[in-house]
Amino acid sequence: MRPGALTDDLLDRLRTRVTAGDATYTSTAVFTGGELATLPESTTGDVTTAFERATRAQQAWAAADLSARLPVFERFHDLLLKNRDTVADLIQAETGKSRRDAFEELCEPALVTSYYLRTAPKLLRPRKRAGLMPGAIGAAEHRRPKGVVGIISPWNYPFALALGDLIPALVAGNAVVLKPDSQTALSPLYGAELLYRAGLPEDLLQVVLGDGPTIGGAVVDTCDYIGFTGSTRTGTQIAERAGKRLVGCSLELGGKNPMLVLDDVKIAATAKNAVRGCFANAGQLCLSIERIYVHDSIFDSFAEAFVAETGKLRLSAGYDYGADIGSLTSQRALKTVAEHVDDARAKGATVLTGGRPRPDLGPFFYEPTVLTDVTPEMLCHAAETFGPVVSLYPFASDEEAVALANQTEYGLNASVFGRDRTRAAAVGTRLRTGTVNINDGYASAYGSTDAPMGGMGVSGLGRRHGAEGLLKYTEAQTIATQRVTVLNPPRWVPYGLYTKVMAASLRLMRRIGLR
Ligand code: NAD
Repeated sequence: MRPGALTDDLLDRLRTRVTAGDATYTSTAVFTGGELATLPESTTGDVTTAFERATRAQQAWAAADLSARLPVFERFHDLLLKNRDTVADLIQAETGKSRRDAFEELCEPALVTSYYLRTAPKLLRPRKRAGLMPGAIGAAEHRRPKGVVGIISPWNYPFALALGDLIPALVAGNAVVLKPDSQTALSPLYGAELLYRAGLPEDLLQVVLGDGPTIGGAVVDTCDYIGFTGSTRTGTQIAERAGKRLVGCSLELGGKNPMLVLDDVKIAATAKNAVRGCFANAGQLCLSIERIYVHDSIFDSFAEAFVAETGKLRLSAGYDYGADIGSLTSQRALKTVAEHVDDARAKGATVLTGGRPRPDLGPFFYEPTVLTDVTPEMLCHAAETFGPVVSLYPFASDEEAVALANQTEYGLNASVFGRDRTRAAAVGTRLRTGTVNINDGYASAYGSTDAPMGGMGVSGLGRRHGAEGLLKYTEAQTIATQRVTVLNPPRWVPYGLYTKVMAASLRLMRRIGLR
């Protein structure tokens, strides 16, 4: 089932955006399991070519004033919203997600673009810093682009996680070589087309496609900085590789995200709200809730309300807004989800709802699934399922809930529901996760682009969004100017006397707060 927007003409244009020779591969139309698109496949030689072109283009881009660069992103923002139906069509065709989830996805690059349009002039301008000797020595901090940034992105949010990360890199004056997942390359390629239509200089954004370790590995081995989103396993390999070359990296990795339902919640409203936190994008969301801890005084009534809300979710394949939830993206994802549920069931877990594939809807559909009686020997207890499966656990006190939630090496996202928001937020500060959402699953923190987003523990290194999301693509350069010679004593001043004067100055500066 090809979506309306994917015409032969568009496909031909997207193919020209890949730096590659004659080799090709074919991606899957997820709703049917048939063929979606044949696209060029890059070699490591093509990666070298991509970097050469990007390096040449980057020089002029970095030399241009920021005020000359920003209008490209203003036009991109307009083009993105104008062409949202095409973007949503492509995202759906290659991921199998629902139209609602596709629309939510394309909002991320729009939010990020408008955020950095507003803040980049302030964040990137040179800043006066206190010099060593006030009056005699002045200092300023400048921000230089890294050069050519490599972005490697996954299949679950192929448009948001490619565009949302590469736009700040471009804004900061870098070129980008992007390697999306091969299954989900159409929407990021269309994003590249929109950027070029918005006036991005030719060659500044290169796209290479191919096998992760080979083509992704070549990107990591050549770039000046790597922005990676994907699994913790791959992230660890990338960090090692980048470390060997002493290039920086940011790693946005997996999670096993907890939700805490405190004893004072409004049960019906919380259950309704929690469903989206667990099952949006069929649970294939790094921020998705996979563990819900519920105060034991309300456990049964919450479980009943939550299961009822889960049962209302509409699953279907289609390019309209009728479905709440779409398909899983691949046979591999379906296999992991089924394995986790079957293993839990075999070891004594109770399936409250769901727990089965839905081949009648499409080859990779799986029902939203709620489990209880999950124990540590079950796969889904600690490992990321990355699908529509959530386990409910009771707790007796806030202390116990915090301890249980923190019992993981991951630390990406968490959620706390409570009628007393101050108390819920206080509980939230005790959780070891990069984002905490009070009375929401994930969107409040993720959508707050002024605040950093990323993981603690094995969930990642570095942050996207906020000042960090832009400044990570720059090097700080300090330019200090000695206006009056104070650092070398005149020949006629004995060094002993000079040290006394210096010590007295240091004391004075400390007292009056200058140093
Ligand atoms: P993955 O690590 O298998 O692949 C991610 C990307 O890396 C793909 O483009 C892939 O081709 C490439 N790749 C694979 N091996 C590579 C290697 N050795 N060197 C260089 N590149 C390589 O992850 P995935 O299965 O595609 O994505 C799902 C995972 O991503 C989940 O664990 C999910 O939690 C995580 N994720 C995290 C975030 C976040 O923001 N923290 C967002 C989305 C997904």
